[in-house]
Amino acid sequence: SLPPFDHQPRPYKGMLADEVLEKRKKFLGPSLFYYYQKPLNIVEGKMQYLYDETGKRYLDAFAGIVTVSCGHCHPDVVNAVVEQSQLLQHTTTIYLHHAIVEFAEALASKMPGNLKVVYFVNSGTEANELAMLMARIYTGNLGMIALRNAYHGGSAGTIGLTGLQTWKYPIPQGEIHHVMNPDPYRGVFGSDAARYAKEVEDHIDYGTSGNVAGFIAETFQGVGGAVELAPGYLKLVYDIVRKTGGVCIADEVQSGFGRTGSHYWGFETQGVIPDIVTMAKGIGNGLPLGAVVTTPEIASVMSKRIQFNTFGGNPVCSAGGLAVLKALDKEKRQAHCADVGSQLIDRLRTLQQKHDIIGDVRGRGLMLGVELVSDKDKTPAKAEAAVLFEKLKDLGVLVGKGGLHGNVFRIKPPMCFTKQDADFLVDALDYAISRL
Ligand code: PMP
Repeated sequence: SLPPFDHQPRPYKGMLADEVLEKRKKFLGPSLFYYYQKPLNIVEGKMQYLYDETGKRYLDAFAGIVTVSCGHCHPDVVNAVVEQSQLLQHTTTIYLHHAIVEFAEALASKMPGNLKVVYFVNSGTEANELAMLMARIYTGNLGMIALRNAYHGGSAGTIGLTGLQTWKYPIPQGEIHHVMNPDPYRGVFGSDAARYAKEVEDHIDYGTSGNVAGFIAETFQGVGGAVELAPGYLKLVYDIVRKTGGVCIADEVQSGFGRTGSHYWGFETQGVIPDIVTMAKGIGNGLPLGAVVTTPEIASVMSKRIQFNTFGGNPVCSAGGLAVLKALDKEKRQAHCADVGSQLIDRLRTLQQKHDIIGDVRGRGLMLGVELVSDKDKTPAKAEAAVLFEKLKDLGVLVGKGGLHGNVFRIKPPMCFTKQDADFLVDALDYAISRL
């Protein structure tokens, strides 16, 4: 059922890696977040593959940080963007435009329950900013509960929600309480969702006035290390938070659109329906796009206020986003993620039996994590992970890094990733670990 893959990269005549690197050092700001000792100069992408300036092909198992959902330069998305660009590139929501409402309608049709009102923004950070703002206005409370090790964004507001030490800055955090991470592998209570949930209740009782504006969590922590929250956790916590009058926000920036294989949205794997859902990344297959979806009741608080940003839901991104939703449906990507993902996780678990350095294999669908440890005490294999990460790149496989020590490989490829790709990835990992 997969489109045949017959792509030949075009001869590249652009700037070479050394020159790009020189200019990056000169004109782009420094950051700890750049990947690879000798950075890759990626010049072309096609579905699940990327090409560097020499024409070398890489299997992209990280999808531009879980962003390229239906495939690099997917033809349907390219066509939609080109067609809309030729007609009208920009207008804002102060006027009417059919692409914006068509996209909103299609997105609302994917949501369960009463989640039917859509606001478009440009990124995951902005989506979470707006969600937090809505929760605070709707409830009249300030306090927010977030998980340790969560990533929700890098703006002045959302950086407070983000619970990772590496992303902390000396700015006011604004009434944000970080509760224990219900991480079945590393969390102190293992998979015991009830004990983690009790800790949330205690935080509300002892750390706040007794009322909170809301609770926010990724169902599958991404940057924090590809962690699937302990089963049943969200149901218990949503009940506790709603009892205090707070609203529940699901950050689906990484886990939506069928990537988990079993469900369209990550929160559905925990049997809950949030009050507000935020999304970005995969919604645009690389176009700068984000969205907040909520109920008419919560949205009504915005009717006497101005909610606006210049680019949110612009025609080109809307046309592209609509094409993404249609392509994922047409190509039955959710079922495909389940199918390929189950083979991949089985093979990774078999590899775990062979190599002690693989401490944990987790996740579902094409939303997987492989945690590397040095010993039975789960000491993060930080140095080994760094070597393996480079080696995989040399072998033509790009994975993501996650966790506090960069010792978790995040495997979240474009959803067109095949079983052959999965085999290639596992064989490369086996080869690299065997030669450590
Ligand atoms: N939420 C989650 C779960 C994310 O992974 C990210 C980005 N890594 C964000 C929010 C922020 O998205 P953006 O980078 O588009 O602002």
